[in-house]
Amino acid sequence: MAPIHVLRCCQRGLAWIPVIFIALVVCWSYYAYVVELCIFTIQSIGEQVVYLFFFHLSFIMFVWSYWKTIFTKPSNPSKEFCLPKAEKERYEKEERPESQQDILWRAASNLPLYTRTGAGAIRYCDRCQVIKPDRCHHCSACDMCVLKMDHHCPWVNNCVGFSNYKFFILFLAYSLVYCLFIAATVLQYFIKFWTNELPDTHAKFHVLFLFFVAAMFCISILSLFSYHLWLVGKNRSTIEAFRAPVFRTGSDKNGFSLGFKKNIVQVFGDQKKYWLLPVFTRLFSLEDGSSKSTTVYLSSPLSTHLASPSLLFMSLFTPFP
Ligand SMILES: [Zn+2]
Ligand SMILES: [Zn+2]
Repeated sequence: MAPIHVLRCCQRGLAWIPVIFIALVVCWSYYAYVVELCIFTIQSIGEQVVYLFFFHLSFIMFVWSYWKTIFTKPSNPSKEFCLPKAEKERYEKEERPESQQDILWRAASNLPLYTRTGAGAIRYCDRCQVIKPDRCHHCSACDMCVLKMDHHCPWVNNCVGFSNYKFFILFLAYSLVYCLFIAATVLQYFIKFWTNELPDTHAKFHVLFLFFVAAMFCISILSLFSYHLWLVGKNRSTIEAFRAPVFRTGSDKNGFSLGFKKNIVQVFGDQKKYWLLPVFTRLFSLEDGSSKSTTVYLSSPLSTHLASPSLLFMSLFTPFP
């Protein structure tokens, strides 16, 4: 195998280390809570049953949303955004940037593109050889263009974007619930540890670390979760929060905001019963109320940036599985 391939394999393997670390911490927390706390430390049967029920509920939701965030493949631009073969050859042969832009402008004439580069040019990815749809960015870690890319998250070893942003938000929410539940229920035994009221077994050290670890994760997740809720309310990705998207009329950090309620719907879908579940939520057209089988509308810019204030439909993009 060529050295470059070996290096890439090593890189791919190493990228799983943060995920394995989280998985090990979660496995230990499960053992420590269920066995060491509920079975060996807590005496009351009623307390054991109530704690174990709510613990497993938050554990399942947390693991489910974490799993979906990790294993949902990022969506990439569909073939409509690739240059036709002849155009691609011309683009590659052409050395002058102005002529290359001419080719791109012609190819993009029928595409629903509202954003530009800082210089006002069509956004094109040389690596993937594709015209970048609005809100799409190239991820160097995944080596692909990702629709509505938010960021590449090492803790899930995946790109967070159009296909899994809802799952990512739910993962943050349920991990917060999981840690808060553990911290709140362990607190009284944590206090008993310091007042020497716990039996002198190894279980008491699990109780001690359970509280410390849960409290530590609570603090770090809370800040990230609050930030992402704020982004959802603004219909802004992390990338767009750092650098405002550029439209035909100039840059506008609120360019994709449709109003608070519609911004929420953009991420969670319009069926409230699925909002808290890490499942794909199909959206309905706001215009005619009909279900679009494989379509989900992309966050469309405000009417100030559009020729017509219609919704952009995701039918042009890779449909969901
Ligand atoms: Zn790319
Ligand atoms: Zn990525």
